[in-house]
Amino acid sequence: MPAMTRKQFLQAMAASAAAGTLPAVLRASQPDPGETPTEELILTDAMVLTMDDTRRAFESGFVWLRDGRVHRVGDSTQLGTPPAGVTIRSLAGRVIMPGLVNCHTHLSNGILRGLYDEMPLEVWFSRGMWPVLDALDAKAANAGAELALLELMASGVTTIAGGDFGTPHADLLDGVLEAAHDSGIRAIVSRITVDSADETSPSQFIPAGYRETPQRAVDEVRRLQRQHDSERITVAPEALGVLRCTPEMVTAMHEVAVDSGAPYLMHAASSPEERTEALRRFGHGPISELDRLGVLGPRTLLAHAVWLDDGEIGLLADHGTGISHNPVANAYYASGIARLAELLEAGVPVGLGTDGASTNNGQNVWETMKMAMLFQKQRLERASFGSAELALELMTRGGAAALHMPERIGSLEPGKAADLIVIDARRAALSPPQTLVSNLVYANDRHAVRDVYIGGRPVVLDGEHQLLDRERVLARAQAAAQRVLARADLADYLRQRGQWQWQRSAKP
Ligand SMILES: [Zn+2]
Repeated sequence: MPAMTRKQFLQAMAASAAAGTLPAVLRASQPDPGETPTEELILTDAMVLTMDDTRRAFESGFVWLRDGRVHRVGDSTQLGTPPAGVTIRSLAGRVIMPGLVNCHTHLSNGILRGLYDEMPLEVWFSRGMWPVLDALDAKAANAGAELALLELMASGVTTIAGGDFGTPHADLLDGVLEAAHDSGIRAIVSRITVDSADETSPSQFIPAGYRETPQRAVDEVRRLQRQHDSERITVAPEALGVLRCTPEMVTAMHEVAVDSGAPYLMHAASSPEERTEALRRFGHGPISELDRLGVLGPRTLLAHAVWLDDGEIGLLADHGTGISHNPVANAYYASGIARLAELLEAGVPVGLGTDGASTNNGQNVWETMKMAMLFQKQRLERASFGSAELALELMTRGGAAALHMPERIGSLEPGKAADLIVIDARRAALSPPQTLVSNLVYANDRHAVRDVYIGGRPVVLDGEHQLLDRERVLARAQAAAQRVLARADLADYLRQRGQWQWQRSAKP
């Protein structure tokens, strides 16, 4: 509430009483729909997977939510008599588990889904990459982010880390952050920057209009933090990559992260080409270069980390650097299968990510869990690798560790945020119940997620988002995608991409 004298306050009250409205000063002080206090609630009679340090799981348990946090968890028979006024919901036949943590996505890319499937490189260079980014203005990014969030949250995601470009449209991040705020999600949103003018590697080349100075990038991160940081939303700096950014930019972004207490994000070791080019430029791999620049600290989260040597895995473990493993997106670009088994063995904090809809294409975290296990079995030629339990742990407490938020999220324990999901176990794909945990991951029926709570607030109930209007989100996404395709001159390419003979409808 803005500072005002008692007299001003009373005058405002009197004026508004006369007009029959709420005074502006009180409207401004009202918590917005995403921040209203939550009711005290007990969810009981459900299977409860806590993901706590000892991995307790209750066949019939309860979770008690108070002031946006988990108050108590236990066996239903131990609940006792709650005080009057506490709402109790019986959830027999349901599973309650911590909300899912998606460690890597790009929210604005919600409207770019399907665009890049098998795109020829010459199209990608001429129209696919930079012209599309140029066409993504704040309004389109907001529409894309709402679409991505609608899908993510209905699938059970309660926390995301995702980056979007701060150039060429300075307000693109504002569009994304407003969508994150309105949706009720818990999010680390990074502002991606690039400044390298090295032209020797075409895939890493940055056109002039997308580069900026480190000082401008610092100023913009600070501005976004001032305008958008909240209990749920954290704006973080991101230097896109060690080849697409100068050392000055990489260290400047890390410094602003340290100074503001935010995480520091990067894409790293994503492709064999990146490794080859790093070896040529630096004489060592990308992770070793980040170590040389002093940015592998315990606030850093690296996306992909596919191409690593043993020494670099050791560096990641020594520094406690978080990793987002994105198996589906890596496969989309045939860029290799990460050394997940070795990363886990070394003790690196690893979470799972979908990556953006432009490189995945769904924001299907359940599929990501399954593929994380299957690709690793293939790589190791060892069917005994991993487990459904491991996949669920990576998508919850693993993600929390990778995002450096293990005290706040990732498991159902007293004092942690009440971020949880309720799954209908009585679905065909989740039956028979004797192998329910396996079914959750390997039969991955994401529509089994019925309710999603973030900070104790129901953001999805019975599959429907409570804060985003589905029809409006879909309509805005369609319109925004159309504008982007037209501006990037991709509409004809998309129409002629397949071999099928489409017959135009006779209807107007
Ligand atoms: Zn990415």
